[in-house]
Amino acid sequence: MRRFAILALFAAILACSPNSLSSQSAPYDVLVRNGTVLDGTGAPGVKADVAIAGARIVRVSPTPLSPADAKRVIDATGLVVSPGFIDLHVHLEPLMQLPGAESHVRQGVTFALGGPDGGGPWPLGAYMDKADRAGLGINVGYLTGHNIIRETVMGTENRAPTANELARMRRMVAQAMDEGAFGMSTGLRYIPGYYSNIDEVIALSEEAAKRGGIYTSHLREEGVGLLQGVGEALEIGRRAKIPVILTHHKAIGRQAWGKSVITLAMVDSARKAGTDVMIDQYPFTASYTSLNVLVPPWALAGGNAELKKRLDTPALKDSIYAGMMDLLMNDRGGGDISRVQFAIVAWDKSLQGKTLADWAVRRGLKPTPENAIPLILEGVLNGGAGMVYHVIEEADVKRIMAHPMTMIASDGRLTKLGEGVPHPRNYGTFPRVLGKYVREDHVLTLEQAIHKMTGMPAERLKLRDRGCLRTGCVADVTIFDPATVRDMGTFTDPHHYPVGIPWVLVNGEPVIANNVFTEARPGRVVRRPAPVRGQ
Ligand SMILES: [Zn+2]
Repeated sequence: MRRFAILALFAAILACSPNSLSSQSAPYDVLVRNGTVLDGTGAPGVKADVAIAGARIVRVSPTPLSPADAKRVIDATGLVVSPGFIDLHVHLEPLMQLPGAESHVRQGVTFALGGPDGGGPWPLGAYMDKADRAGLGINVGYLTGHNIIRETVMGTENRAPTANELARMRRMVAQAMDEGAFGMSTGLRYIPGYYSNIDEVIALSEEAAKRGGIYTSHLREEGVGLLQGVGEALEIGRRAKIPVILTHHKAIGRQAWGKSVITLAMVDSARKAGTDVMIDQYPFTASYTSLNVLVPPWALAGGNAELKKRLDTPALKDSIYAGMMDLLMNDRGGGDISRVQFAIVAWDKSLQGKTLADWAVRRGLKPTPENAIPLILEGVLNGGAGMVYHVIEEADVKRIMAHPMTMIASDGRLTKLGEGVPHPRNYGTFPRVLGKYVREDHVLTLEQAIHKMTGMPAERLKLRDRGCLRTGCVADVTIFDPATVRDMGTFTDPHHYPVGIPWVLVNGEPVIANNVFTEARPGRVVRRPAPVRGQ
């Protein structure tokens, strides 16, 4: 009796709501018919119709639902219906200029986690409020960045913090966490993160851990020092008792190739010993980062003015040159300056897409590492550049991808068509995994790949109603053709959107509709969910 009364009351409220007319004629806003549903858990696909009302999935039905019950019907015959992809490593700096995030939603990404590599906005809370008001085409969340915090407190000084400075950094991490950050990122290869020791990072990670956050590490070394870099991240996880992500995991340079056998074994044994560590990866054999990584970090302390002074001191200049030669031969240079490609160069756009070897030849020099060193320093003193480094081996890419703890993440930057010659991951990370690594190379099954793009990252962020496709989940949905989905950009011609992803829904609203970018802005800033009791 009582239940009936409540139901009747509920029906009366519904009837009085402003949506009553439409909800009587069509209870669903969107109905996706005849597709194969992959729910993001890794379970096999099932034929089912998916009904959406507002921003939620309200029904997943193996028996067909009536098109008459929906305002919009999407025919997904022959297509896969998946939770929208979650990208755990995104350079969202251009978000205010590119709020529609077309280069990301075209890949099927509906949630992008910003603030990687120790970067990101500060203060975070105010920025997130502003982003929310701007209206977004994608859902975003943030990590807070160690480098931003350290630089705010200590500049780019190459030393340990004082007790007061460390206390202030701890408060800043705590503040960002309380404002809704999902955790803390470090970029220990970059300035000024490189100047921190492990105890500093552990102290700050503890503040994130206390509040349910994660720790995402761009390792201190990914080349010759790769194993020490992984070891440090695992130790931070163990001592700070914080879930870890080894982000954009890879092995850089000849001497490190094949070392993923060892790093993955380190991950397995750390997990057995109780450290909650996962991995993310982009599916390419080239990295993208600054030109400055070809200069030893100690030489960059204090900025370009200090670098110039050091280069004017013969003994220091010799050390800088020796350090750069080592980096060119054994680390990001890959032993061959034609592996180092300019991507974004504010001071000479004609270099974009060309290599260090091309630049040397243009200057009338033999393309050798010796001749590249003064050119690199000239570029750094000009303000640096964004570079693509072709220094990763395919066997490591496949081995890391196949590991059960590896998720897919782009490390991509929101990109405007035609600007520079950026890394093609900005456009094609997720479709490349589905096209090349699932369909062509069989490194993953389709179900595994989708799990690595949806359920796994959602779980890592404790997002209970995203990365899933069942009743009650948020209607972030990506619909793709498993027979044709693929990336289209290359390293010399990157500005192409992928193909085979005709529909992408963010919070129930299409941002890609029948292959057309709709300019809709249903995205939100998502703050870290409050911990569930007992978790
Ligand atoms: Zn990074």
